[in-house]
This record gives sequence, C-alpha cells and structure tokens, in this order.
Amino acid sequence: MSSLPVARAEVLVDLAALRHNVRTLTELCGVAMMTVVKADGYGHGLVEVARAAREAGAAWLGVATIEEALALRAGGDTGRVLCWLTVPGEDHGPAVAAGVDVTAYSLAELDEVAAAVDRIGTPARLQLKVDTGLSRGGATAADWPALVAAARRGEEQGHWRVTGLWSHLAAADEPDHPANDAQERAFRDALAVADQAGLRPEVRHLANSAAAVLRPSARFDLVRCGIASYGLDPAPGATPDLGLVPAMTVRTRLAMVKQVEAGAGVSYGHTWVAGGPTTLGLVPLGYADGVPRHGSDVLRMAVGGRPRPVRGRVCMDQVVVDLGDQPARAGDDVVLFGPGREGEPTAQEWAEACGTISYEIVTRIGGRATRRHVDGEVPA
Ligand SMILES: *Cc1c(COP(=O)(O)O)cnc(C)c1O
Repeated sequence: MSSLPVARAEVLVDLAALRHNVRTLTELCGVAMMTVVKADGYGHGLVEVARAAREAGAAWLGVATIEEALALRAGGDTGRVLCWLTVPGEDHGPAVAAGVDVTAYSLAELDEVAAAVDRIGTPARLQLKVDTGLSRGGATAADWPALVAAARRGEEQGHWRVTGLWSHLAAADEPDHPANDAQERAFRDALAVADQAGLRPEVRHLANSAAAVLRPSARFDLVRCGIASYGLDPAPGATPDLGLVPAMTVRTRLAMVKQVEAGAGVSYGHTWVAGGPTTLGLVPLGYADGVPRHGSDVLRMAVGGRPRPVRGRVCMDQVVVDLGDQPARAGDDVVLFGPGREGEPTAQEWAEACGTISYEIVTRIGGRATRRHVDGEVPA
C-alpha cells in the first residue's frame, strides 16, 4: 500500500472477500441464503454487493425499503428480493409489479397491498412478519391469528401468494440470552397457527447473522445474513473463527505533517496537550465523512502500517494523529480501518473505541471519500 492514484480518500470494497464470506456462511448453514443489502449494502454499495452475493449463490436479497428493492431491480437484479418496512400510504404497486416480496405486519397493510394488486392487476408475493419478542415490527402474538386468517382469505381471492413467514431476534449476538429460546418457541407457535390457517409458505426464517452462525435450530429454510457477509463479527466474543474477511478498507493520505513542542494543544478545545515534542499528521477525513466524533482521543489509524493514536477532537473534515518519532511525510498512506492483516485497525476496533457496533461504523463511513470496488487484494 504505497501510493494512491488520484483519490483523496477512498472506501475500497473487496468483492472477492464478500463472495468468500457469502459462500462460507451458506456452507456453514446448509439452507438458502438471503444476503441483507439494506442501507447501501451496509455502506459497501447496494448494486455491487448484490451482484457479488448472487455470484456467490445468494438465493435471496433482503432490504428494508421498497426504494431499495426497486434500486436492485434497476441495477439488473432479477432474483428473489424481500423488503420489510413501509409507512401507511406508501405505494406497494411498483414493488409488486417488480416481483419483489413485500412484508405485511398488520391488517391495514394487507389492505394496502390488496389495493395495489387491484390497481396493477398482478398478484403480490407477500410475506408476514410476527413479533416474537423484539417488540419492533411485526404482528403481536395476539394479532397474528387474525393476520394469517386475512392473508389466507386474500390468497383464496387471488390477491397474493403468502411466500414467507418470518420474525427477528432481539439478542442473537448473546447466545445464552433467554430471549433466544423464548423467541424461537414463539416463532414455532406462530408457524403452527399459520399452518392451521392453511398457509403453505416457501420460506420460514428467523436468523440474522449471529443466529445463523451460533444457533442451528433457528436456521429454518433461510438465513438472513447482513453483517457477517461483509466479514464483520456478528457476535464479538462468541463467534468461532470462520475465516470471514472484512470487505472494507478506508484509506487516505496525510495532508500535512508537522513538529510540535511540549504543551501544544491539539484540535478544538485542546482536549489533548502534547507532553513532549512530537510529530503530528493531518488526516483529511472527519465526522462529515463518517469518522465518529466519539472517536476523539480514542481511535487509531495506521500510518505506514503502524497504528497511531488520534489526538484531540475529530473535526468535520479532518483529524490529527500522533506520529511520535515515526518518520512521515505529507502524502504518506493512512489506513483508517481495514481487514487488519497489515496492522491496521478494524471496524470492530473502531466500534469498541467509540462504544458502538461495527454496523454503525461501516454504514456511516463514506461522505466525501470515493468508493471503489476491487476484486481480490486491495491494490496499492
Ligand atoms: C438488518 C436485518 C438483518 C441482518 O442482520 P445482521 O445482524 O446484519 O445479519 C436480518 N433481518 C432483518 C429483519 C434485518 O432488519
């Protein structure tokens, strides 16, 4: 990693790593794979990630919104896609027309899907979500029997086919958390209710990455893997080593290097003051580019392969690293985070330093950096 071609700052995404991760997870789970590509592929690029996931055998792609599903179709994807989050009044028509599976949580949503089907004249592919204890989206156990009954009637009327039944776990990253057993039991109960109502879905699914890896009983017909597909640890401290490879590397170059004397205060508020003479490097990325301001004084970034501490506050456009007595010049490479193979910090390390999760680090990074997709080794 010696010199960058032109870009001031780059988010490099290794699609070979992504394919490797998708294949590894699919083999481990032994059921169909849904690669979750919401939020611009967790910051890795929706369409590019989708294409790589399909190449690696993902039968399904998962997104939150209808817009995201339609962006997949616009990008040329023709496979199974599920979306799961709408607000009242949203038009389901384009998703139904595009053969996207839509999700209903409530009777009101069923009515909206039925109206869209009437307008466009194509039956929908409809999945139903049950809330088994996350207390977020999905029908409560109390409302579930009425939802499945209405969905079955709609099926008989030709409005749709109920293609899937699903739920989502609250604590899959804590394998011993009692909510896991309780939710899996509630899900099996909900499946039984739907079965008695006559629904025969193609797929029943409960597991996100952490459950897919750690809880074989939760795999059912399909696993929905987001974070692990990007090579990040879905359950830090609990995940066995699967050889997943982080797909994202964020790098830039030092904009300036300077010597300061003892007593020099660094960045806004002088939260860090040099205890002795040192060399500072100016990194041209800041919180507007997704470097968390909570990383002030705690993040590390690699300069010349050596992790160096951030000093003082992360600013909107820039941040200062302490190079100590390391020889450095303006223009030297800086790796903010990456797979960790060459001594650079990982997104997981950044997350721990900032009191968050790697999901938030990768979905927020970018801003004014240029995203570039590569295949295999990150080029110099
Ligand atoms: C985001 C999301 C996932 C993926 O979760 P990971 O922990 O990233 O694997 C799966 N299912 C639903 C419903 C989601 O919203």
